[in-house]
Amino acid sequence: MSPLERALRERIRSEGAISIEAYMEACNAYYYATRDPFGAAGDFVTAPEVSQMFGELVGAALGDCWKRAGAPADAVYAELGPGRGTLAADALRVLRSSGFAGEVHFVETSPVLREAQKRVVPNAHWHDAIADLPKRPLLLVANEFLDALPIRQFVAGIERRVTVTGGGLAFERDGEIVETSPVRDEAVETVAAHLVKHGGVALLIDYGHARSAPGDTLQAVSRHRFASVLEAPGERDLTSHVDFESVAAVAAKGGAKVTPVVSQGDWLQRLGIDARAQALSRANPDRLEEFNAAIQRLCGAKEMGTLFKVVAIHSPDWPRPAGFA
Ligand code: SAH
Repeated sequence: MSPLERALRERIRSEGAISIEAYMEACNAYYYATRDPFGAAGDFVTAPEVSQMFGELVGAALGDCWKRAGAPADAVYAELGPGRGTLAADALRVLRSSGFAGEVHFVETSPVLREAQKRVVPNAHWHDAIADLPKRPLLLVANEFLDALPIRQFVAGIERRVTVTGGGLAFERDGEIVETSPVRDEAVETVAAHLVKHGGVALLIDYGHARSAPGDTLQAVSRHRFASVLEAPGERDLTSHVDFESVAAVAAKGGAKVTPVVSQGDWLQRLGIDARAQALSRANPDRLEEFNAAIQRLCGAKEMGTLFKVVAIHSPDWPRPAGFA
């Protein structure tokens, strides 16, 4: 039995069944605090780990938006859940070349991943919460951050919980599931309020759906395969699909401007991923196949291109970033 499972069983015995939100929160805090889960040898691969082109296009989009906003010198690059720091390193290379000289601020709770980030972006500033970001214009990006935040699940209006039976951890009820995520809504609300008050733009990239719909999207991934959500708690990555309709509504309610929700494939194509691959392969002719494979992985309809979505939210004083038609 995993150390976290022992603790959770103990907790359920003393407090009674716990919500999916409490379960997911405990599992992911433990999971990310105890490992670097990325890459072929780990549990899953994210877009910035697929190819440098992903972060470079993020950097180009942010740099262009920043320039059109008048290139405010006090703006900072901010990232939520930066993982290994790969996206930040690739984005900053391009951002710096556009003249951006601002600070770098990371919101990250995992000590293991903070160390990894420090190796590639040594001068960054770290924070535990979005609310701690400096009160200045933000060039913010969050890739696969919102999917890791805990959700609640309801069956016929009653909260679905995790309990202990003779066989181990078990869900209390089955039926048509409706998901909400107050924690995710609060994260988006905090980002939107910051942008409205201090200026800036945020790119939110994740897998999920453009329209709200009922359904159970809670999933566990281990070693690149789907796994049971209730087995080995804290040893697997727990995520849910992001409800982008809800994300957009929360941001708009806070007074921020919201772009249409687009697929990652369309967004990367509009940002010029093909031209980027051509330019890179002129300098590295032996890597042409690698760049083409990465485009397929990031943009292909059967791979990440359609399932992953992107939305930008920005201050009413800032222009809409490129890539959203
Ligand atoms: N953006 C990276 C990593 C995605 S994994 C990439 O695309 O590769 C999720 C990231 O969010 C990890 O860095 C994890 O430690 C961090 N994270 C998860 N929950 C968090 C929370 N509540 N607060 C801050 N960071 C969190």
